[in-house]
Amino acid sequence: MKKRTGMFCLLLVVLLVGVAAAQSQPAPITAIKVGRLIDPETGTAATNQVILIEGEKIKAVGPNLEIPAGATVFDLSKVTVLPGLVDAHTHMAITYKEQPENNYYYLTYVMESTPLRAIQAASNGIQLLNSGFTVVRDVGNNALYADAALRQAIEQGWLPGPTVIPSGPMIGSTGGQFWPTPEMYKYHNIMFPEYIDANSPDEIVRAIRENMLFGAKTIKLCIDCKPWGYSVEDIKLAISEAAKGGCMVEGHVQTTDGAQRAIDAGIHMIAHGNALTPEQHQQMAAKGIFLNGTDTPFMPYRGSEQAFKRTVANLRDAWEKKVPLTFSTDLDYWNERMKNEKTGEWLTRGDLTIAFLETWKAADIPPADILRAMTISGYKAADIIKERGPIKPGFYADLIAVAGDPLTDIDALRNVQFVMKNGMVFKKDGVMTPEKFFHPGPVRMPSGRWTR
Ligand SMILES: [Zn+2]
Repeated sequence: MKKRTGMFCLLLVVLLVGVAAAQSQPAPITAIKVGRLIDPETGTAATNQVILIEGEKIKAVGPNLEIPAGATVFDLSKVTVLPGLVDAHTHMAITYKEQPENNYYYLTYVMESTPLRAIQAASNGIQLLNSGFTVVRDVGNNALYADAALRQAIEQGWLPGPTVIPSGPMIGSTGGQFWPTPEMYKYHNIMFPEYIDANSPDEIVRAIRENMLFGAKTIKLCIDCKPWGYSVEDIKLAISEAAKGGCMVEGHVQTTDGAQRAIDAGIHMIAHGNALTPEQHQQMAAKGIFLNGTDTPFMPYRGSEQAFKRTVANLRDAWEKKVPLTFSTDLDYWNERMKNEKTGEWLTRGDLTIAFLETWKAADIPPADILRAMTISGYKAADIIKERGPIKPGFYADLIAVAGDPLTDIDALRNVQFVMKNGMVFKKDGVMTPEKFFHPGPVRMPSGRWTR
């Protein structure tokens, strides 16, 4: 018995030494030689830079940095490197279609389960990362927290994808964006999980706490989906409750009155720009309220010329008034016309997202300002700018490379050649190389513990 105990102790020591050795192993060093490195904050580019990456994070950036022996080296000296892009308002876990639901998303959420929609979201995330989107705010219409599950799965290292900022279900007064029949509401409770009903201050607090408990990193409120909507006091309450869980609040706004209540309450960001007046743009600029305008272009597969002209005029006015603008799409639909007109091939979710540049170009916004909206403003709206986004020491190594110069030709962003996420290469020479992102177990422990 004693002998066995001795053996056991020896084995334990060997194991512990082994664990200690594994923990003290230095993180691998990656070096990237960069021809042009864009800083979107200033709208400038530096030439002949070296980025040194230790594990998942950037260690140093500068000209003529010494590359340590044994480092893995990537030569991006012929292309332009810049931080990853952000879609600040999208929906990866819902895709309503012409068939069978006639673009009527009441039916999509009845016919498609949370697991199916989570898998759709995982595929959309990979497609977005392939087009250089390393951060995505995913704000509602995610069935039962498919958005939070995707964030968790990506964080744990199961699969590649952008950093997801999930909102959980959108919070609104009864029915959310739906107009349920009494039968639907009373006997089938069919609005949940698509929306959380919150009709009083107590219910607003409860809904926000539920979302944060289940993994929301931002809160989405339906400000005026019903004529009664939320009051300034309701919105202020939501902002203070969300702050307790470290969440900013985005308001879905579809009326000028609703927009005014959101602005008066000091909401962090407003989604959809169509109901905003020039005067409200001025107020948003003064208060630093982000506009996630979801500026839909007029394409063969979507939109109308009339709606496009209005969207372009609104975006232009918001830019002139210096509203903090993000790049945002509200993509939650698909149809059979979403094909490359020349090749006839399907457009990817990334292609469809980057196509929103058409609206920004039509509004005649300078490339440097578009790039700032797609990066710096997006990191701020996602509330990650202290740790992720800028290519600076101490930040996560998320970066992309494109042929050409997006500071003079913004369409250069359509041709992403290289994508790195958390220091790992996801795309190289224009081809996805995602193998290193797939694992049969949760290999990453963000914050040193299992989290949502
Ligand atoms: Zn939306």
